[in-house]
Amino acid sequence: MDIKQLDKTYVLPTYARADVEFVRGKNATLFDNTGKKYIDFTSGIGVVSVGHANERVTRALCEQLSNITHISNLYHIGPQALAAQKVVEASGYDMQCFFANSGAEANEGAIKIARKHGERDGAIKRYKIITLNHSFHGRTITTVKATGQADMHNYFGPFPDGFVYADGIDAIESLLDDHTAGVMIELIQGEGGVEPQDKEKVQALEKFLKAKNIPLIIDEVQTGAYRVGEFTASQTYGISPEIITLAKGVGGGVPVGVVMTSLKGVFSAGDHGSTFGGNFLSTRAICEVVDILNEKKRDGSLELTALYFNNALEKFYKKHTDLFTKKVGFGMMYGLRAKDGDTLANVIKSAREHGVMVLKAGRNTLRFLPPLTITEEEIDEGFNALESAVSKL
Ligand code: PLP
Repeated sequence: MDIKQLDKTYVLPTYARADVEFVRGKNATLFDNTGKKYIDFTSGIGVVSVGHANERVTRALCEQLSNITHISNLYHIGPQALAAQKVVEASGYDMQCFFANSGAEANEGAIKIARKHGERDGAIKRYKIITLNHSFHGRTITTVKATGQADMHNYFGPFPDGFVYADGIDAIESLLDDHTAGVMIELIQGEGGVEPQDKEKVQALEKFLKAKNIPLIIDEVQTGAYRVGEFTASQTYGISPEIITLAKGVGGGVPVGVVMTSLKGVFSAGDHGSTFGGNFLSTRAICEVVDILNEKKRDGSLELTALYFNNALEKFYKKHTDLFTKKVGFGMMYGLRAKDGDTLANVIKSAREHGVMVLKAGRNTLRFLPPLTITEEEIDEGFNALESAVSKL
């Protein structure tokens, strides 16, 4: 069976796929259909937080599949309630959860909460959501409009009204008006090019918005699930937003989205829903993933892995300042700014040929989002391969 030909014939061409077909993986190691081995510094764009084919997650999902997979949200779902408890407790915030199926869907839910909260007195229609330029919030019609990248707004209009883009945190205050329902930001812009926000500015924004009763929505689709140290980047930044969205890493490879909010009274029955969101299978995955990561946080191994990865990346960066101009990010979310787009494309291609997977972000950033369970041996092997890859450029 020629997978490439089937893909070309039957799948819509929305992805510029690399010429590789992976068939199995174990932790941060992947194998393609020719048996070639690769080290994965991408974790499927921040998704397989606990590694490929994690034994505990596999066991939990097999057990769940053999009991019950889906019954709809018309009835109580044990793993959903447990997943909500685990997620809320790991965050330390006094919140409740809604379960969706993706990051974009979680952000849709967050926008609905902010807008309904904005309707609280009925007198003023608060519907505007301020987001940042270079942000990324998803691919649905609403979240693509929430995304502050004009070239993503081609073709698909008319869009829902009310999205306003700020050129950085400093510009948000001046864009606020009586119709503002919320402010939605990523603490470290991921797709935009690994751009961490300034902690003090974020804290000042939080204080300012709280005084005005305008919810702060933190899109943690990429930064959540211990990607940058704490369970949420919001904890790392020392803020208490009203709404947090999660997806990617919190499901470990099973499609999930989570909206967490301290605005517990806003939604009532019928305001929001999902057929699949929160089903037995996806929330069982969340339970197991969060348990594994909690244990690794507690025993210090998450921190040690991040330290080891950062040291290896720093060494690589210092050796190749002819190719890269800056190292950015923290935790297990990093970028190296390439000197230009061509250099970046060549590094990514050569890396793949030499057996290490890395990502592009923004226009010229080489992005690293390894599984949080990557071993020191895998890190060494990956950077050795990257070294060979750039030496051939
Ligand atoms: N928000 C952020 C910050 C993301 O990085 C992404 C995906 O990359 C999304 C939202 C969209 O998530 P999904 O592709 O699961 O809809």
